[in-house]
Amino acid sequence: MPLKWIVGDVTVTRIVELEAVGGSRFILPQATREASLEIGWLQPHFADEMGRLKMSIHALVVETPGRRIIVDTCIGNDKQREMEAWSHLRTRFLEDLEAAGFPRESIDTVLCTHLHVDHVGWNTMLVDGAWQPTFPNARYLMGRREFEYWRGEADETAGDPMIFIDSVQPVWDAGLIDLVETDHQVCGEVNLVPTLGHTPGHVSVRIASGGAEALITGDFIHHPCQLAHPEWASSVDFDPSASTETRERMFAALSESPTLVIGTHFAAPTAGRVVRDGEVFRLEV
Ligand SMILES: [Zn+2]
Repeated sequence: MPLKWIVGDVTVTRIVELEAVGGSRFILPQATREASLEIGWLQPHFADEMGRLKMSIHALVVETPGRRIIVDTCIGNDKQREMEAWSHLRTRFLEDLEAAGFPRESIDTVLCTHLHVDHVGWNTMLVDGAWQPTFPNARYLMGRREFEYWRGEADETAGDPMIFIDSVQPVWDAGLIDLVETDHQVCGEVNLVPTLGHTPGHVSVRIASGGAEALITGDFIHHPCQLAHPEWASSVDFDPSASTETRERMFAALSESPTLVIGTHFAAPTAGRVVRDGEVFRLEV
């Protein structure tokens, strides 16, 4: 059974695409095994006894009384990628989504926290040799600044321009994308929160209902170890000093609120509360 959380009248369900142990060093180069072992509370959920970090790539389905939103769409099937482990995947993600009660046609909103490879993949699927929107009845919400930055990059030869071309452009061409601001109110219970630094227009997703609150992080934090080391920027952070500033600001605010923090790459149990731990923070699950 997929993990689920109740936030007032809203339900959040985790649909896993891939889980991995130890493959995270290229994302968080300072999180060596030795350094991770020093953060005792990471075990057993977020690191193993060797200090290897556990991570997950999953989508989160947010059901409000009026909307059915999928937040971040993982890597996707059949896509050619620079990273071999993510190239030409054939996972059961869509079947698992449907088995959890969410046929792709029933999704009315797709929300991308940012436009990196592991957040836009299932925006499209391969049908008769062409990339088609996976969620034909949805509006796809993307940050205006984020979209414009990556559209510019897609014209350059650097990086992996295929990501925009196979996972964003076809949705744009189908007229399904709404460009929104970083504090956009999606519906009564859901709004975007700017958490810049990882990418130029990165957002997190705040859910507030019936006095309860949750925050879907996106990638301003990749792994709970960064709560103990907010200065550990990810190797793929666009602006590491801005992302560090965002982490410090967000962790301090979250530690003073009962907000349930749902990590976009946190291994199970995936959600918890940020609490102070001396000068820094930890996740209480
Ligand atoms: Zn990511």
